[in-house]
Amino acid sequence: MQMICSRCGSSVILSDLPVVSNVDNFSSVPISILTYKNPERRGFKTPVPHRLLARVCGNCGFADLYVEDPQGLAASVNPASSSV
Ligand SMILES: [Zn+2]
Repeated sequence: MQMICSRCGSSVILSDLPVVSNVDNFSSVPISILTYKNPERRGFKTPVPHRLLARVCGNCGFADLYVEDPQGLAASVNPASSSV
């Protein structure tokens, strides 16, 4: 399935690109959706990051973001939905 840019119609689409912040010569911080393993717990809740990736048009630069593991995010947000 060929992807087409929803803004300009180009078929030059660059997929699965990491989205990061705080880039320096040695490290970068991935941008993530944040959920918690035990949200009902008082006090410390175990954070669960769900890494975002980008799909960018190589012509106009329009970018889509998507979660690397959507099933894992769905299961984390609504555990009852994880039986898909
Ligand atoms: Zn485009």
